[in-house]
Amino acid sequence: MSVPEAVPGGPLPQRIAMLSFHTSPLAPLGGRETGGMNVYVLEVARGLAALGVTVDVFTRRTDEAGAEVEEFAPGARLVQVTAGPEERIEKEDLLPYIGPFVEGVDAFRARHGLEYEAIYSHYWLSVVAGDLLAARWGAPHAGMFHTLGDVKLRARASESERPERLEAERRLVHRLDRIVAATEHERQLLRQIFRVDGGKVAVIPLGVDLRMFTPRPQAKARARLGLDPERRSVLAVGRIEPLKGLDILIRAIGQLQSRVPVDLLVIGGDERAASEVARLQAIAAEVGAGSTVRFLGPKPHESLADWYAAADVVAVPSFYESFGLVAVEAMACGTPVVASRVGGLASTVVDGRTGYLVPWRCPEPFAERIELLLRNEPLRLALGAAGVERMRAYDWSAVAARVGATLAALVEEHRRGLAS
Ligand code: UDP
Repeated sequence: MSVPEAVPGGPLPQRIAMLSFHTSPLAPLGGRETGGMNVYVLEVARGLAALGVTVDVFTRRTDEAGAEVEEFAPGARLVQVTAGPEERIEKEDLLPYIGPFVEGVDAFRARHGLEYEAIYSHYWLSVVAGDLLAARWGAPHAGMFHTLGDVKLRARASESERPERLEAERRLVHRLDRIVAATEHERQLLRQIFRVDGGKVAVIPLGVDLRMFTPRPQAKARARLGLDPERRSVLAVGRIEPLKGLDILIRAIGQLQSRVPVDLLVIGGDERAASEVARLQAIAAEVGAGSTVRFLGPKPHESLADWYAAADVVAVPSFYESFGLVAVEAMACGTPVVASRVGGLASTVVDGRTGYLVPWRCPEPFAERIELLLRNEPLRLALGAAGVERMRAYDWSAVAARVGATLAALVEEHRRGLAS
């Protein structure tokens, strides 16, 4: 085993537990529960392990397949814990299984004689579990919410959220020893909404795999995907849910197509997104874009670089994105992004340089910005090239190093606290 690197604030911890209770980092992406958080947990666990930290990621078992323990990178393991029925359960119904999950994680630790120096939990359900484990183990607890119920409610008037989640988040933001936020904006929200002391929040952006997401010739990417070389296309990628704002984009395409012929390709959404896809298809038909909007279903993460490169523009019309991995992946592939000016998108997309940020959640400005790029190839190429340049700083290994430094400082603080 390699020795963890020393960082300012103390040496890296030897062994940590990451909690990803409701969804596995190894699950296929693009489903209802599988998106940016899965990518984050996988990449950060890998990156920390590459620095010499032994990482166990715990998740709830959702089927009978697969070993209890699977090493997915040297030093990083996925541990499946039986807690409730071994089947997929909607995350809204998982609260009763947190207790059994905590028992299962602790039993694994005891059986193998392990000691975790810190816990790093993902999404509020895992933070609830991590809070119980932290008390039991006397270990410091860091957490990342990915989205917060209160923030979601503010972003889109018709969203609803269960009171259990809102209550738990309002309590846990104060119980966590460290909150990792993706942007400075999220740190401000934590202060404004919950009165969280800013000093307890570490702002660490998410990253992009710069080996996977590389620029490549558009014509070749189109040929590999069997796309018409002459048709212009706008691409949207991600979980399909109302918060992603695809209705706005479809209406924008409806307005645009009489002026510039263009297809809208939508990647993502498993069978559980069927009713939302049907709603969106009805909107497409209503605005006369029934045949230009194509729902392609989820695609493997490794195949997406070709899709980003094949598209002329990638659109991210979300009501809220805590970070927005799709935008950074697209920019890393050299495709300009037209995105809502919300959450993390406002800090990754540079308006007028790597794409455009649209301040209003309505179709007209999306249509206008997309048209500008489709009509001006030199501008489109210049913005794409600037995106590639900007994304160089966003490699996952740098993200993992910053998470490692945050955990090291936390463990050090905890030791001092115990000693005094
Ligand atoms: N993704 C994928 N295949 C799909 C749909 C999505 O690999 O069919 C990936 C996408 O590349 C990105 C993540 O899922 O890495 C979505 O992350 P994002 O931050 O954009 O959205 P979130 O899921 O966090 O809301």
